[in-house]
Amino acid sequence: MTCNIKKNDKNNGLNYWCLTHKTKATENNGIAPALCDCKYKERYENMVEMTPEEIKSLKIIYPNLNESTNVSIFMNGEECKGILKIENSIIDLKDYGGLMLSKLNHIELETSQCPNCNGRHTDNGEFAYTPHSKHLCIYCGRFYKVEKANIGNELALYFSFPDIHLKNEVINIEDCCEVTYDLFTGEVLINNLSCNKVRQKDKEIDVVNFLNQKLKKEY
Ligand SMILES: [Zn+2]
Ligand SMILES: [Zn+2]
Ligand SMILES: [Zn+2]
Repeated sequence: MTCNIKKNDKNNGLNYWCLTHKTKATENNGIAPALCDCKYKERYENMVEMTPEEIKSLKIIYPNLNESTNVSIFMNGEECKGILKIENSIIDLKDYGGLMLSKLNHIELETSQCPNCNGRHTDNGEFAYTPHSKHLCIYCGRFYKVEKANIGNELALYFSFPDIHLKNEVINIEDCCEVTYDLFTGEVLINNLSCNKVRQKDKEIDVVNFLNQKLKKEY
């Protein structure tokens, strides 16, 4: 799937947006970009279209947050190497982590709709736990305002996800920090254990604050 870059004038500096990959494109010395900044365009070659009823399990794994924020998606027990399409929603890789952050921060998800393209809104990275009234639509790349600050996630349109409960434990993440989140059971595990604190360099950090910080730029 090739980039389909659209110019959005007067758009807070975000002048170019790729409609194919739902990602901004960056101007180079005043020259209109031909490609967008999406890091996993090859995934879009493999659109996996599912109905909500067909999805029985959904799990994400960050193999080691000490090294990178790369994430793997497991659907119905198998790794999903493509991009998920549910009804009118294209679920980007970042959207699963956004959901985890919102659930960890006890956010009431209210998905708004873009008045420009009717796309439903999903908040990721720091926006997944910081209510805001000015949203950036990742379908068309335009900003729009809502009356009351809120946070949305398109996945929540199709499923009702349980709350996340963390055990009162401390896990050492000095060597590795694998994070798994089972969306349908609400289980978040760090190095295979449920905990509400992690220990790194003799410091104990609240798990929610730790994940908020680690994933804050993943939008
Ligand atoms: Zn693109
Ligand atoms: Zn938003
Ligand atoms: Zn839009």
